[in-house]
Amino acid sequence: MKNKTNRRQLFRKSMRYLTLGVIGAGGGAIAAKRGKLVKENKCISDSACGGCEILDECVLPRGMSARRVMEGKNG
Ligand code: SF4
Repeated sequence: MKNKTNRRQLFRKSMRYLTLGVIGAGGGAIAAKRGKLVKENKCISDSACGGCEILDECVLPRGMSARRVMEGKNG
């Protein structure tokens, strides 16, 4: 019976570390892709610019336009 418990614990720990690894790898891949897009001056988001984390530094026409609108300098 004790052997069964140990296997179960080992399986749980393995699954926990596997899950953490998958989450970490996914987060790293997303960060790497975002960094590559920023370097290439490409948009990092399909959403509106208002909530974009790099709006202040964005050099894309859509981002610069959104900044002007938000600052009230439209036209
Ligand atoms: S500020 Fe707008 S255009 Fe610039 S990266 Fe963000 S979403 Fe794309």
